[in-house]
Amino acid sequence: SQIFSYEFDTPSFKGKTSFNTGLYIDGQFVEGAEKQTHDVINPTNGKVTTKICVGTGKDIDLAVKAAQKAFDTKWGLNTPGSVRGKLLNKLADLMERDAKELAAIESLDNGKTFSWSSSIDIPGAIATIRYYAGWADKNHGQTLETDENKLAYTRHEPIGVVGQIIPWNFPLLMMSWKIGPALATGNTIVLKPSEFTPLTALRMIPLISEAGFPPGVVNIVNGYGHIAGQAISEHMGIEKVAFTGSTVVGRKIMEAAAKSNLKKVTLELGGKSPNVIFDDADLEQAVNWSSHGIFWNHGQACCAGSRIFVQSKIYDQFLEKFTAKAKSLKVGDPFATDSYQGPQVSEIQFNRIMSYIDSGKKDGATVHLGGEQHGTEGYFIQPTIFTNVKPEMKIVKEEIFGPVGVVIKFEDEDDVVRQANDTTYGLAAAVFSQDINKALRVAHKLKAGTAWVNCANTLNPQVPFGGYKQSGIGRELGEYALANYTNVKAVHVNIGQKM
Ligand code: NAD
Repeated sequence: SQIFSYEFDTPSFKGKTSFNTGLYIDGQFVEGAEKQTHDVINPTNGKVTTKICVGTGKDIDLAVKAAQKAFDTKWGLNTPGSVRGKLLNKLADLMERDAKELAAIESLDNGKTFSWSSSIDIPGAIATIRYYAGWADKNHGQTLETDENKLAYTRHEPIGVVGQIIPWNFPLLMMSWKIGPALATGNTIVLKPSEFTPLTALRMIPLISEAGFPPGVVNIVNGYGHIAGQAISEHMGIEKVAFTGSTVVGRKIMEAAAKSNLKKVTLELGGKSPNVIFDDADLEQAVNWSSHGIFWNHGQACCAGSRIFVQSKIYDQFLEKFTAKAKSLKVGDPFATDSYQGPQVSEIQFNRIMSYIDSGKKDGATVHLGGEQHGTEGYFIQPTIFTNVKPEMKIVKEEIFGPVGVVIKFEDEDDVVRQANDTTYGLAAAVFSQDINKALRVAHKLKAGTAWVNCANTLNPQVPFGGYKQSGIGRELGEYALANYTNVKAVHVNIGQKM
């Protein structure tokens, strides 16, 4: 396999990077059984950044074998939690050492601004690994009261080989959400990054090795979803698969799991999250958070507050201020120090978002702001606001996954709860009001896995994240995520009962 070397000479970051672009199986870089490669595209200009190796079912199979061997001999129940925690902390230290370089690679690959990748993505990934390092020796079972002739207790045992399939919108952050709890609980991993953003995962490999994880504990196989991803979902040797991505693919993964070995499935899928602003909200704060809610990460956030509900009395005032805020967001080179928004991740996503914008126009919604490509090169889209929308329009119902928000008027509490819950998704919701009783009442009525009160899109490693309805199954982050990666064994010990 090839070494990718790149020199960053940008206003935000100057420095070099260099890493192997092969498949990482059993502690070795390999080219893959079919020796296939894939062009990684820079979304800022549409040009090829580098080639990487991509794997097929044969490589997934080798990775599963390596992971199983590592589980049976070096990891799993062979390594105490305190040692696993120490290695995870070491990994976090190494990520901290190379944080700026990781951030630069993320921005090059994904198009997100360096200011965000260096302040959110990479620190968030490090914090997640550290958080799970702390859990590694604290995930206890219970002793259970039955009767005096019995000792009953539970053990939280690692599952074994787990498959993890991650998306492109927060590549390293999503990798940390996946590997943190899996490694802390003693599982071994076959991870497939998104083919659109494979680079930070590749740059993590030398850090994983330097931290001291034994070969085969973490295997990283880049590849296409329908080939390598599908091979993970249907593999008979993988006992659990964790996926973040679209609802369409989530269904395929569950189906493949059902048809193969009924592997356990957790899914983090799409959203069409409501953002509710009552007329007693702190208007300026509501405007700023709502802008962050939909325009953060170029709208490429599964929890984006894409349906913005504003109470009728302040509708005009909110819209005016929100529009001014959106206009002030600078779109441009992700490495320019004043850019707020870079390009969308790929040509496919660019076209998909533009076709949603077209559908909104055709359906008779008003383009209040934006609605066009920004510039002529790369995949940049203007921050876009639609008004005069109807509930049945595609731009109101479907996840756009771009910098496109719809602003909708509501009358009262009952009206907005009904409208906000009128969706097949249930990932997140936000409520803005200075009446804390009302804010909490509404937060509790919204059918979503996360409810933000007077904020939006804030996440912490300690706090679980996941969806109601078709936004997913299971919870990542927090103590809750540990259950995704453990089997509970109940042990009954007879200490006196005679037959
Ligand atoms: P995607 O579902 O196409 O791809 C996600 C991953 O799945 C990639 O690694 C891809 O290669 C793989 N994949 C694709 N087809 C597959 C198949 N048949 N079998 C197995 N794996 C397959 O989604 P995307 O385009 O990468 O990401 C955008 C979508 O992801 C959005 O809908 C967004 O809401 C969702 N998302 C959700 C969350 C969350 O936490 N809930 C986070 C990020 C993104």
